[in-house]
Amino acid sequence: TTKRAFNFNAGPSALPLEVLEKAQKELVNFNNSGMSIMEMSHRSKDYEAVHNDAIARLKSLYSIPDNYEVLFLQGGGSLQFTMVPMNLLKEGQTASYILTGSWSEKAWKEAKLLGITKEAASTKGNAYRNIPALDDIQFSDTDAYVHLTSNNTIFGTQWKDFPLTGNVPLVADMSSDILSKPIDVSSFGIIYAGAQKNLGPSGVTIVIIRKDLLENAKTDIPTILKYSTHADSNSLYNTPPTFGIYMLGEVLKWVEEKGGLQAIEKNNEEKAKLIYDVIDNSNGFYTGHASNESRSLMNITFRVADEELEKQFLAEAKEAGFVGLNGHRSVGGCRASTYNAVPYETCKALADFMIAFQNKNH
Ligand code: PMP
Repeated sequence: TTKRAFNFNAGPSALPLEVLEKAQKELVNFNNSGMSIMEMSHRSKDYEAVHNDAIARLKSLYSIPDNYEVLFLQGGGSLQFTMVPMNLLKEGQTASYILTGSWSEKAWKEAKLLGITKEAASTKGNAYRNIPALDDIQFSDTDAYVHLTSNNTIFGTQWKDFPLTGNVPLVADMSSDILSKPIDVSSFGIIYAGAQKNLGPSGVTIVIIRKDLLENAKTDIPTILKYSTHADSNSLYNTPPTFGIYMLGEVLKWVEEKGGLQAIEKNNEEKAKLIYDVIDNSNGFYTGHASNESRSLMNITFRVADEELEKQFLAEAKEAGFVGLNGHRSVGGCRASTYNAVPYETCKALADFMIAFQNKNH
């Protein structure tokens, strides 16, 4: 068997070994076609079956109601920063942004270029250690939508309960916690996510959008940037990232085999707990960045007692086969990303390594 790394990359990140092995088996001859999925027309029967199957599985896993469309786009989470306001934010309206980290700031920046925006809340003053209290969020009655980032990949915080926005659609960037737990899709107007953390390889971006938002969207925008263009053509308006969608379908099957989103959530809780427990029981040798109540189950951010020791920790961890533990280049420190496909045993290995490192160096 192949030796697999202890992969804690923030994205692109670990994929399930079973999925990789299946893709490898099918790579040169998919479904007896004599070619790989990458080599066939996106209008072929074989590909269309894969495409529609991935949509159906996502709908079923999340129990997505009939008044929503699932779209497969490209351009990553970053293109959604601009497509959301381009489609939804009209003259005379505002868009309210809840700022919980660098990615929400980036989303906000793009919306500002296209219309009038408001800051609904920000936890920047607290170094983005927490998610705002629901009572502290200010909405505006001219809001076309409210935007939030459900999991903050860089700072390691995650929303547990979402704000109620009444008739105003809530738009969520779920790039780094999509498919990690059950959510009630009907409380959102739009959910978007790049695939490269929990869904598959980079290249495909999923958008789950309520149909009335398609119907009422702005029309004076480029064809390819209209959600309705993609909804009207079952995400086959132009050539989609076919291999990425095939992989997404396989990852969705893997989630089903694991017992669905509830089972995945339980597993994610157990994995994160292994590492948070080491931090909490370290008497300050390790300190978490996020406030306890806002801690992410996907990205665990922490520091080691002093800077020299932290460098040594990262160097020794690398030596021991741990990959991706450096914090984001904008904030430093350490970060362990424990997405769906990171095995429990890998998290246990890190927890044990952290304890051993502390015992040697405290
Ligand atoms: N939003 C979040 C929460 C992210 O973590 C990232 C990437 N790490 C992005 C958006 C940007 O995604 P992309 O690189 O797919 O444009």
